[in-house]
Amino acid sequence: MTLCLHGTRITSGVAIGPVHIIRQHDFEITQYSIQEEFISEEVNRYKKALTHARNHLDSVLNNIPASTPAEIKAFIHSHLLMLNDEMLSTAPIEIILERQCNAEWALKIQRDSIIHIFDSMQDDYLRTRRDDIDHVVNTIMQNLLSGPVHHGVHHSQEQRFSGHIIVADDISPSELVLMQHQGIAAFVTQTGGPTSHTAIIARSLNIPAIAGIHNIHTLLHEAETIIVDGRFGIILTNIDDEALYHYHRLRREQQIQLKRYKEFPHLPAITDDGVEINICANIELPEEIPLIHEMGANGIGLYRTEYLFMNRASTPSEEEQFQAYANVLKQLNGKPLTIRTLDLGSDKQVDSGKQLSHAIINPALGLRAIRLCLNDLALFIPQLRAILRVSALGPVKMMIPMLSSINELQQVLRLIRSTQEALQKESIAYDPDMPIGGMIEVPAAAICAEMFAAKLDFLSIGTNDLIQYTLAIDRIDDEVNYLYDPLHPAVLKLIAQTIAAGQQADIPVTMCGEMAGDPRYTKLLLGLGLQEFSMHPNSHPPIKQIIPLCHTKKLSRQVKRLLKNTDHTEFTNQIEKLLC
Ligand code: PEP
Ligand code: MG
Repeated sequence: MTLCLHGTRITSGVAIGPVHIIRQHDFEITQYSIQEEFISEEVNRYKKALTHARNHLDSVLNNIPASTPAEIKAFIHSHLLMLNDEMLSTAPIEIILERQCNAEWALKIQRDSIIHIFDSMQDDYLRTRRDDIDHVVNTIMQNLLSGPVHHGVHHSQEQRFSGHIIVADDISPSELVLMQHQGIAAFVTQTGGPTSHTAIIARSLNIPAIAGIHNIHTLLHEAETIIVDGRFGIILTNIDDEALYHYHRLRREQQIQLKRYKEFPHLPAITDDGVEINICANIELPEEIPLIHEMGANGIGLYRTEYLFMNRASTPSEEEQFQAYANVLKQLNGKPLTIRTLDLGSDKQVDSGKQLSHAIINPALGLRAIRLCLNDLALFIPQLRAILRVSALGPVKMMIPMLSSINELQQVLRLIRSTQEALQKESIAYDPDMPIGGMIEVPAAAICAEMFAAKLDFLSIGTNDLIQYTLAIDRIDDEVNYLYDPLHPAVLKLIAQTIAAGQQADIPVTMCGEMAGDPRYTKLLLGLGLQEFSMHPNSHPPIKQIIPLCHTKKLSRQVKRLLKNTDHTEFTNQIEKLLC
């Protein structure tokens, strides 16, 4: 009988293929003494392993496709920098000399002491760096142990990876780039969440992926065929003929649909009853802009600027930010650009030399996003200036994340006004009518949406956080991920309330959370009255296929009935009819 394992959705694709298991912690490290006369040989053995590790990363860099985003290359560079740092290039050698022990043991001691320092810092971002240390140490370790390569993806292994579903504890960004180059069908990891670096890259590269399936190694066998259904975050094992037939047909249909759609990407998205739906794109990296044109997006509905601040030693200056935003705007050829002000803190930390979050106990509820910006004007004002300056060059909107109170919004609006006055005094151009919008992603803001709507030019519903905060589940904690439910009546009521507030105030309401890009919810969202969607460009084709089949007035009647429901069973029955 077909078995279903649940994990966390990383990307929504579907894949069928044989499993290839990669074990990260397979190394059995033993300690042994080295006689005095062989110490220099042992040191050389370590140096050689280090050189091989460097060569491996160099070859990763040289073999990644030219179109690979600069951000990904930066990850690999940062691993090379770690290899060259004395913590790995000289400290283990000193341990070999001091303790007269084998190189593997010396590297293990050094790794443990670095990890101990990282652990004691208890900082979410540094925890990600801790994983990077593990990846780099493992690359050296696998060269020291002449056993099978566990995690390195050499070119001779191309055949082994092609068409396979990789199952691993964790996969580093650099490994994922190479694996994609070698044609993996999908990947499943034991750890990780939807906002890890690897997850972000998986989405950019469109690789079906699921994370957070505990003990995955013990549940699957090498070479068995499994199905990864990223739409629901599940994998199917022990597949029977019926399931296999269903998924093969689904994949074929998806491919035909995608091909058909790609031939007509610029058709407007109009419902059966003639309502034109505005479909925009979410981007993290400027490299994603060509895809926006390819998919015929109407503009950018969410530009996550925090990625400009990551993987670097210093905060970008006002000028650098201005150039970056102007570059994105120019590439949009007149289409509107919504720039979100910094949403740093919580799980999105930077290494610009700043300790951004000291609310370690619960960073998602701490100094994050607009709270952090209002707390650190040296960080916020240069960004406000850069966004205002770029508004003089074309259709730019500014969007404020994680608003929770009107006082906070008033402070932001005052700061924007004073920044405009400062620019005016300096005779620097800006658009005084640049629309300013707010993200509705905290339940308090959704409940009081009409108060926010009265002061803003548009609202944008961030369902990723709205769901996290409404249902009290950390969105990156795979232990409670099963509770993350976009269809929870409380979530739907908050969305409905926000859309109604926008309609009453006659301002646009868009949705830029992951829910907007999930075709299962398109009918439901149209029924809730949503007319503007923003999502990763890869999600555009399926959504644009569904829209012409929908009649908004009929759906709206169905949704009104649904939301009035007081009986949960009836609610569940009715919602089924609204899912695609
Ligand atoms: C959201 O919360 O839905 C959102 C779009 O913002 P982010 O995912 O960047 O927190
Ligand atoms: Mg958010």
